[in-house]
Order: sequence, then C-alpha cells, then structure tokens
Amino acid sequence: MSESVGPLLQKPQSIRALRAAIAAGNTRATDLAEGYYARIERFNPQINAYLALTREQAMEQAAKVDAQASQGDPLPSLAGIPIGVKDVLTMRGAPATAGSRILEGYLPPYDSTAVQRLRAAGAVLLGKLNCDEFAMGSSNENSAYGPVRNPVDLERVPGGSSGGSAAAVAADLAVATLGTDTGGSIRQPASFCGVVGVLPTYGRVSRYGLIAFASSLDRVGPFAASVQDAAEVLAVLAGHDLLDATSAMRPVEDYAAATVQEVKGLRIGIPEEYFGEGLDPEVRAAVEAGIDALRAQGCEMRRIRLKHTQYAIPVYYLVATAEASANLARFDGVRFGHRSKSATNLASMYRLSREEGFGAEVKRRILLGTYALSAGYYDAYYRKAQQVRRILAEEFQAAFAEVDAIVAPTAPTAAFRLGEKSDDPLAMYLADIYTVTASLAGICGLSVPCGATSTGLPVGLQVLGPHFGESAIFRVAAGVERAMNGA
Ligand code: GLN
Repeated sequence: MSESVGPLLQKPQSIRALRAAIAAGNTRATDLAEGYYARIERFNPQINAYLALTREQAMEQAAKVDAQASQGDPLPSLAGIPIGVKDVLTMRGAPATAGSRILEGYLPPYDSTAVQRLRAAGAVLLGKLNCDEFAMGSSNENSAYGPVRNPVDLERVPGGSSGGSAAAVAADLAVATLGTDTGGSIRQPASFCGVVGVLPTYGRVSRYGLIAFASSLDRVGPFAASVQDAAEVLAVLAGHDLLDATSAMRPVEDYAAATVQEVKGLRIGIPEEYFGEGLDPEVRAAVEAGIDALRAQGCEMRRIRLKHTQYAIPVYYLVATAEASANLARFDGVRFGHRSKSATNLASMYRLSREEGFGAEVKRRILLGTYALSAGYYDAYYRKAQQVRRILAEEFQAAFAEVDAIVAPTAPTAAFRLGEKSDDPLAMYLADIYTVTASLAGICGLSVPCGATSTGLPVGLQVLGPHFGESAIFRVAAGVERAMNGA
C-alpha cells in the first residue's frame, strides 16, 4: 500500500513485496494493518464491503509478526499480509451473519479451516466481508446489510455472491480475501471488479466452518490482485483436512511456481457454446484478445464443443436449491441467531423466526428446492438433474483428454447497474451460464482480468482446468496477465 491514502481504486502491493519488506524490517506489519484500517474507515462507507472489523485480534497478530521479524525468525508465507474473510466463513471472535438477518448476533466459537490456515500462515485478518444472503445471488443485492458497490463504478454491482471480497481487493481494502463459489460466486465478482478469483477443485480446500448453501457445490477460494498472489494464498488454503470428509488427500502443488512457467505448447480449448447468443460484443472482443495473446505466446488453440452447456442452468438451480432447502432447515430460531419475539408456541416460533429472518431470495430457493425434492416430483426434477450433472462432468472429462485448459468468458456481460436485474430473478440466474458448468463438474477454474469495455468496466477471462489442474490454470492465467500488463 502506498504511504498516503490513495484513490478509491488502487492495486495492493504484491504479497511477495510486502513479505520481503516486513522480513527486512522496512515495513512493520502493525503499520501496514493500521494503514488498511485507515483506508477501510475512509472508503468502506461508500463501498459497504466490510460488515465487521476485527481490529483487536488483527493488531495482536501483526505485533506478533513484527516481533518475529525483529528477532530475525523465519516468517511464514503470509506473515503480516492483511486479508479479509467472506461472512459465510466462521472466524473466532467475529460475528458470522452470512449476509442474513437470521444469523444476526451469532458469534461462532471456532475458526473455519480456511481461516485457521491463514492465521497459521501469519495473515492479519482484518474483518468480515459482505455477501448475498447465504451466498445466493450474483449481485450482492441480496445481502440483508445493504448492497456492496463496485469500486470501479459506484452505481454498479460488484457481482456476487462474494461481492464484498472482490470489491475489497479492487479498492485495496485488503491485499487478498476469501470468497466462496457455488455457481460462480468467486469468478463472476472477480470479473466484475477487475481482480483475480479462483475456484479450486471440489475437495481441494476444506469446507469446515463454511455456512453451507449447497454442499456438493460449495467451495472456498481466494481473491487477489494478481495471479501470483492468488496462487500463494491458495497454497496456504489447500490440503487435506480431517474435519471435512470431502477434502482430498492429494498433495498440494507449488502453484506460485506455475505462474512463472511459460505457456508455450499448452493446448487450450475454446468452447463454441460459450461464445454464442447473449454474449456482450465488448466482452467477446476482450476475451478474444486474451485468446490471441495466448496464441502469440505459443499456445495451441483448439475449437471444442461442450454440447450440454445449455442444460447447466436448470440443473444447477435444481441441485443448488434442493441442497439449500435441506441445509437451511437448521435455522429455526432454536440454536442460532434470530428468534421471533411474537411466537406463542413452538410451531409459530419456527415459522415466525424463519419468516422474519430470511430474505425473499432465500425463501424462493427454499420453496424451489423443497418442491424439487418432494415425493411426486423427485424423479422428474432432482434425479434427472443429477443425471444431467453427470453428463456435464463427463463432457468436461472428455474435453480434458484433448486440452490442458479451457478458456471462455467468465460472465456474458460486464458489471450491471444496481437494481437493473433485481426484479427479475430469472434474468439474474441466466447470467450464471458460463460459471455453473464448472461448479457442477467439480473442476477448477479462475477469472483473470482481461481488458475492459469502452466505458472502462473490467472484463474477466475464465480459465477452466481438470480436477486438481490448478497449476495449469494458474500458468495460463499468468500468460494472460503478462499480456495485459504489456510484458
Ligand atoms: N449466482 C449463483 C446463485 O445465485 C451462484 C452463487 C454462488 O456461487 N454462491 O446461486
């Protein structure tokens, strides 16, 4: 971070540079954290990215790092790095609302594994970040605590559901942040705010301590200002965790090393279905320029087909809502957060607590999911969706037998205006077309900035990789980033 408080849109210094400065004694972690809190105080009222600040514990951690540095002790990989956490992840000593009224006042007594790993790596955790309620949404307008504004243009949405996480990095209110992605919630806001956002392979990062939306789809991943920073944070988050039975045993690769490997010789698939109707021409042009840049660096481009892409939205909105309806059953006013004051008996306590606590979108999802799972409709909807989900996954698997990575737009448009789609849930759902496929298939992906529209709105290029193909997608993304930086 620069010494004086800079303009709203500012790129954080790289993790490597900050770590080196802290280790050399040129920057104190405590000063760095104070600087970030000063920026947050100044700019958060406009952006609404942070819902809660954890200054006391952050300063304690920063002081610990400074003490280590002054003794010349070796510093862990994120020592002193200021990081923000999406409010769907638990963090000891901080509230966790998941953007919902129903969890107002809930103080989780434990750290999610992702947060615990950041702490162990020396990160200074600044606070909790705004998001759509229970991560349901694509614009952050579904938060019970007000929308987040896009730092690039305050009249526009930052994307969602991890809008606070993306906006915080774009405005340098954190060096990196944690987000979650169930159907696009890391990649799409990264694209809208002009930052890097990574969807790790399902099982790569523990979900322990993540307030569940759709458990077979939910993933935790990083946002950062550069591909290398994102790679360094993912290396800390990734790895097996005894507390999450779906977390993978596979060893974690050196993702940062992949970002400096040249892309020459990589086979890149360009799926026809991601460049069809509905794709904004300016987004298309920016993504095609990114593809040309990869070709110029020696990638071999191959046109591919992912023929079942058109079914991904209905499949996603059946599977995700079905799982959500089950996961959200636990919010009944008994153990967590909001309990209705007007209840007269047990049944009305359940009903009124949920009625008062959940927002409109969450209720819509619970209704849709309950319907899809109900006895007479289960085969027609839920079972059918699972079958098509399998086909989508196999289609990707077949594609990855021929290519090392797939490149496509992250979203069909750049950031839209606040309120533009909020009355039309279907239009909002349809905009997830390019992101829900990877979510259903369990594969990894990321969004990397790739130019802008004529009005200066960022465009994200999506790179998809096979299961545990994170190194390949970081390598490709770094190639795009180098081209964008003119390197
Ligand atoms: N926009 C999608 C939805 O509303 C994805 C959300 C997410 O990934 N958490 O479900």
